[in-house]
Amino acid sequence: MAEHDLEGELDAFLAGHQAELVDFRRDLHAHPEIGYHEHRTTRRIKLRLEAAGLQPKVLPKGTGLLVDIGSGTEPVVGLRADLDALPISDEKNAPYRSAIPGACHACGHDAHTAILLGAGLFLARTAAAGALPGRVRLIFQPAEEVPCGALDVLAAGGIASVDRVFALHCDPKLDRGKIGTRVGAITAACDKITVRVTGPGGHTARPHLTADLVYGLGKIITELPAALSRRVDPRSSLSLVWGHVSAGAAANAIPDDGLVEGTVRCLDDDAWHAAPDLLKALIDSVASAYGVVADLSYVRNVPPTINEAMSTAMVEAAADRVLGADSVVPAPQSLGGEDFAWYLESVPGALARLGTRKPGSGDDLDIHQPTFDIDESAIGVGVRLMVATALTAMCGGGSAAPEPLPGIARA
Ligand SMILES: [Zn+2]
Ligand SMILES: [Zn+2]
Repeated sequence: MAEHDLEGELDAFLAGHQAELVDFRRDLHAHPEIGYHEHRTTRRIKLRLEAAGLQPKVLPKGTGLLVDIGSGTEPVVGLRADLDALPISDEKNAPYRSAIPGACHACGHDAHTAILLGAGLFLARTAAAGALPGRVRLIFQPAEEVPCGALDVLAAGGIASVDRVFALHCDPKLDRGKIGTRVGAITAACDKITVRVTGPGGHTARPHLTADLVYGLGKIITELPAALSRRVDPRSSLSLVWGHVSAGAAANAIPDDGLVEGTVRCLDDDAWHAAPDLLKALIDSVASAYGVVADLSYVRNVPPTINEAMSTAMVEAAADRVLGADSVVPAPQSLGGEDFAWYLESVPGALARLGTRKPGSGDDLDIHQPTFDIDESAIGVGVRLMVATALTAMCGGGSAAPEPLPGIARA
């Protein structure tokens, strides 16, 4: 397939496969499976890929799969979709609404899966025609919402030889046909911290003979966010917000134990990596001033998703080519988390927003809502973008810096 025929080839492919992909998405939508339970979903993808002559490998835990397309050794471009649904009820009125009580594809992962399947079927044909200038790895990842199925893919070596990796996420605030892109952080880290404070306890008449635990806890609560704002670059948007505090039972007894819990959100990778040690040092210094002992429990969730500039430019060039010159719009930063971020800790890549709102509909849906749904023609848009992005990245080279791509304007 000559490269200049890409748009025509995609048109012809989608004319023959769009209905199948929509049906595939509707079938997954009606049979949603939550993280690490995606057995039926995995089976359906595997059968369809095998029917196309591919040889997918299921991940060790039994859900999710990887498949390589093409025999080239490099460059290897990873394309990732997530498979899992949310543990909420589907409140839509659609023929394909969830048939599984308490499970719903309310984050669009069914669409991501159908899109990646479609892109894979197209690229398999390209490879069979001897026209794939590298190798593509399709990553059908389990358990994005749980999280972190991305870590299972990494543990299985799924990203080891990949030069760049790309993903899409449905965006119901963006019209179908539009692609949202952003260089740098597009989603945030969100970790959970618990600080437990202990001391000897005693009578409120004699705080100087014990340690005033409630006062010390209060100091930790107020001083920590303030100190962070002076110890961390404000551009990292590192924010600590408390959500739960408890200590004591009687007005005249200093308790011997208390705790406070909160979340740490962050848009900068370096600040995210440094956060646990910095927080521990700050907590220890405040606690010691009041004679109490503070113990920090820091639970990592996901890093911020940091889109690499060249990879983002590749997505934009691909959209420009197969979706039109005005298809790319700037995506806002989200303080939500996304475990695709784990891949970008290892290899360059980008996550793009895929518009799923029916143009002119005025719909005001959000992901994770029980009535979430998409304009299904966004599936064809996603296939075009995934295919064109993979081919752009392959033509741009592997880990070496690719040639500048024409027609890219970045602010
Ligand atoms: Zn989600
Ligand atoms: Zn999602």
